[in-house]
Amino acid sequence: MEQKDRTGRPLPQPRVGTGRDADGPAGARGPIDLAVLGITGSIGASAVSLARAYPERVRVTAMAAGRNVERLGGLVEEFRPELVSVRGESERGRLLELLRAGGKGHCPEIFIGPEGMDTVATAGSPDTVVLSAVSGAAGLRPTWAALKAGRRVALANKESLVLGGDFIMPAMKRLIVPVDSEHSAVFQALGGTLDARGVRRIILTASGGPFLGRAREDLERVTPGEALAHPSWSMGPKITVDSATLLNKGLEVIEARHLFQMPWDAIKVLVHPQSVVHSMVEHEDGQIVAQLGPADMRAPLSYALGFPGRWPLLGGGGAALPGYRPLAFDRDLTFAEPDRRTFPCLRLAEEAGRSGGGAPAVLNAAGEVAVEAFLRGEIGFMAIPRIVSDCLQSLGAARLYRIEDALGEDLKARALALRLVQGMRGSA
Ligand code: NDP
Ligand code: MG
Repeated sequence: MEQKDRTGRPLPQPRVGTGRDADGPAGARGPIDLAVLGITGSIGASAVSLARAYPERVRVTAMAAGRNVERLGGLVEEFRPELVSVRGESERGRLLELLRAGGKGHCPEIFIGPEGMDTVATAGSPDTVVLSAVSGAAGLRPTWAALKAGRRVALANKESLVLGGDFIMPAMKRLIVPVDSEHSAVFQALGGTLDARGVRRIILTASGGPFLGRAREDLERVTPGEALAHPSWSMGPKITVDSATLLNKGLEVIEARHLFQMPWDAIKVLVHPQSVVHSMVEHEDGQIVAQLGPADMRAPLSYALGFPGRWPLLGGGGAALPGYRPLAFDRDLTFAEPDRRTFPCLRLAEEAGRSGGGAPAVLNAAGEVAVEAFLRGEIGFMAIPRIVSDCLQSLGAARLYRIEDALGEDLKARALALRLVQGMRGSA
């Protein structure tokens, strides 16, 4: 049935996902072809797990990684993709050596650098779905390349929208389905659409990270090991530290603003440490639709790949996904306001989002540089918001006319953040 908005106008339908389940039983038209950008990472591992469990639904035909050639080599031998890309020439050489030594007789075309990732993002048939799961601003360029080539994109890389949302969404909305768990939750709560017209508020939940409830003074001394010990999710190092500073939630507010085109005041963050409710949509009549599920990225990822159908991750006639457990109702659910004084990165991100222009790109770049320095033990945990704040005060006012302008702001902010890190070194 055609969906209508309040004024009776037909709502545009998203043209995302594979639609296989809608067309008939899984496998009736064969598996979808999937190009995975960032296959050696945490989201990449979720994709690999799904591809192993459901070969009749998804086939990995192309893959991009950075430097983890050992892991990539095993995945190339297992999935036998036609195209691969790695960070540079030395990684290509090592991958070739590994594949020859493995003796499995499969050697894909191997590309390198950002151009190589663009090639992987645009290769294959027009029906190939691209999983954008590189970490950081490096994900923007191949995501944009995939979208320009008309590829459906399962979007985990939130930085693509933080930097390029103003350019991406107007033209490419119909090609995107969110993977980030909160945005998948909102997408599901809206009934499988990015169209949030008539919605009063989007409520993004945040676990609060490992330092929830700690005093600001305590946070000056926390270690990378403590910051990496996330209570509910297992993720890559950058996003895990961002969950501890709440920068991740700030980036997600900006991501939500772009995906669902909501006014800033209509995006609310609530701390929900149990990570059971992944986000909510409040309608004009005060009724709230929430999405609940296991804290396992294979859930939103499979939804993005199978949309508008769902995969039987719990079994139910098909094979159950190893290690995937149904949600246990064994905890009280709590919700609280975030503490923006102790965790200033959330406020900084919200302000950068509202400022617009180059500010979100500066916020993100400063965050990437600062988190890397923190993980190397060069700066303290609370230096992360200080560096982000200083960069935003010096840069970010630029108006952006093209994606390339956002990448230019990213570079400028990286250089400034690095200088700030150098000035602070040793004070950790
Ligand atoms: P990881 O750090 O675990 O993995 C990052 C991946 O990107 C690796 O495959 C890495 O390659 C690759 N990569 C990084 N930089 C480059 C580069 N310059 N060129 C080529 N490849 C590169 O990150 P996550 O999987 O945790 O996160 C990926 C994205 O998904 C992020 O944007 C994150 O915010 C988002 N996301 C992640 C969630 C999670 O649960 N992990 C949840 C929601 C969103 P290599 O290791 O080989 O160097
Ligand atoms: Mg998230």
